Amino acid sequence: MIELSVSDFFSLVLLLSTSWIAYLALRLQYRSSSREWHLSSRQLFECDNCHLSFVPDEPVTICRCPRCNAYCIKRSRRRR
Ligand SMILES: [Zn+2]
Repeated sequence: MIELSVSDFFSLVLLLSTSWIAYLALRLQYRSSSREWHLSSRQLFECDNCHLSFVPDEPVTICRCPRCNAYCIKRSRRRR
């Protein structure tokens, strides 16, 4: 069996816990960067009836609102 002094044991615990925290931080960084939202205002529809903003599954100019099932027509907006 490996003999460890008290200071070696706590150094090992400190090393393992910092390694675990670094692993979790890197994993969180990787997962958040791969799941970022990429939404442009060109794809965003707003229902005139219920004012729901949504993005259709396919790039279309006319679609139905997922909440009230009303037709939504894409209008070209002027740039400000
Ligand atoms: Zn609607």
